[in-house]
Amino acid sequence: MKLFRNISELVALERVVKHAAIAVENGRIAWCGPEADWTGRADSTEDLGGRAVIPAFIDPHTHAVWAGDRLADFEERACGVGYEAILARGGGIRSTIAKTAAESVQNLVALARPRIGALMRSGAATIEVKSGYGFTVEAELRMLEAIRELARVVKARLVPTLLIHIPPIESREDYIEAVVNQLIPEAAARGLAQAVDVFVEREAWSAAEALRFIECARAHCLEAKLHTEQFHRVGGLELGVLERVLSLDHLEACSPEQVQLLGASQTVATILPGVTLHLGIPAAPGRALIDAGAKVAVGTDLNPGSSPLYSMSTALALAVRLNGLTPEEGLRAGTVNAAAALGLTDCGSIEPGMRADFAVLESADWRDVVYSLGTNPVRDVFIRGERV
Ligand SMILES: [Zn+2]
Repeated sequence: MKLFRNISELVALERVVKHAAIAVENGRIAWCGPEADWTGRADSTEDLGGRAVIPAFIDPHTHAVWAGDRLADFEERACGVGYEAILARGGGIRSTIAKTAAESVQNLVALARPRIGALMRSGAATIEVKSGYGFTVEAELRMLEAIRELARVVKARLVPTLLIHIPPIESREDYIEAVVNQLIPEAAARGLAQAVDVFVEREAWSAAEALRFIECARAHCLEAKLHTEQFHRVGGLELGVLERVLSLDHLEACSPEQVQLLGASQTVATILPGVTLHLGIPAAPGRALIDAGAKVAVGTDLNPGSSPLYSMSTALALAVRLNGLTPEEGLRAGTVNAAAALGLTDCGSIEPGMRADFAVLESADWRDVVYSLGTNPVRDVFIRGERV
């Protein structure tokens, strides 16, 4: 048993405990509360220096495995070149797909490892990572293999997702058949993914096609989730609510009626403010979703094209500014609600029995984690009770 003491504020589930302590045994929280109430016996103690402690973050949405970069796209866009012109000269998402599909597993792991390190330094202990830049069955499986290898070499827990991203330019029907007959069954059989994610959008997959992928995922005991209502409304949100998927992600183009529909459901609404900042698209209606009763989560959406954001604390700081969340709602969005978006129940709050995943802030006041910009408000991250 190890006791972490001298905590100015401990943000436990639904309450803030002043002058607190946490006892950890075998990687789990054994006890937490006001330090004065501790009566147990600890084998060792660590003084956290009068700082605030929050649950470690869970990043529920990243595309952290990719090759190449989109710096030329970024510069051109800043100079006023349109997206169509960038695509026409070979930039855009298809350049990331071509570079990623050509890389070895080993190189993909080497490229992704520092990105996971940056997310961990920002306070994340559990990180979802998607495939989706593969384009062929073989390349998608290679991305998932890279995620599995990455999970072996980093201390954070990685949650792998098979993303059915965008259709090939030719042979769309053949690709759909390959996804349902080969890709999803093989990813499931080899334990390479916990969920299947589908990008439902005018330029990607229709709701009818997404339903086929969802049904196939479930037939192989995988969870389902959707990228949806990012630019257009093509029925993804309604499908996701009807099918009770784990989470619906993006939601920038949601109508007020859709906000009510999602708010009345159990599906988590995952919003991604990094995209709003980077692409200048409208912010997802986070405030309205919470008011409608939705469980809102926030992710970085770390990816080279639309959200080069390597910090969960910054994602939450943006959600407070751009999506109208309160600091407390922001913290929930990056912890307990983000856990729900991944179907996890053993992390996201500090209470007995949970994984001892927590972040020690530089500040004595937990609100600093969504307040400070341009500096890292997180001093230390503990995963299963160990400093990482
Ligand atoms: Zn995404």
